Amino acid sequence: MSVTGKPPYDDANIFARILRGEIPCKTVAEDAHALAFHDIAPQAPLHVLVIPKGRWVSAADFHAEAPAEAIAGFWRLVTMVARDLGLEESGYRILSNMGADAGQEVPHFHVHIFGGRRLGRMVP
Ligand code: 5GP
Repeated sequence: MSVTGKPPYDDANIFARILRGEIPCKTVAEDAHALAFHDIAPQAPLHVLVIPKGRWVSAADFHAEAPAEAIAGFWRLVTMVARDLGLEESGYRILSNMGADAGQEVPHFHVHIFGGRRLGRMVP
């Protein structure tokens, strides 16, 4: 924890390495603000991760510190990817795990997009 109580960003995390091109990924879409790629262990027929191009651990960091343009760009890519994957009509789920209790595995802010089948009810 830093003096602000916020965990420091770890530049060695797997998504930072993907952004630097050190680890390959199956890219779905990319723009100046964000990268979307297939999850390595899909939990649904379509399971895509979207990450902002910046050093943010959590949604709170991202929304507090990123320029408005980067935040808008990120969410634009999320919905664009869902549309381009053909999920708009059938529906899909956006989910983000934040911190230990949610089981966040990779400490770089990301959202999951799940779709391609009828999803179970979401329970904690
Ligand atoms: P979290 O639990 O942090 O919300 O989810 C992290 C996700 O990243 C998991 O669904 C996991 O399968 C995925 N993941 C972990 N390592 C890699 C990787 O090297 N490549 C890709 N494409 N996905 C990964």
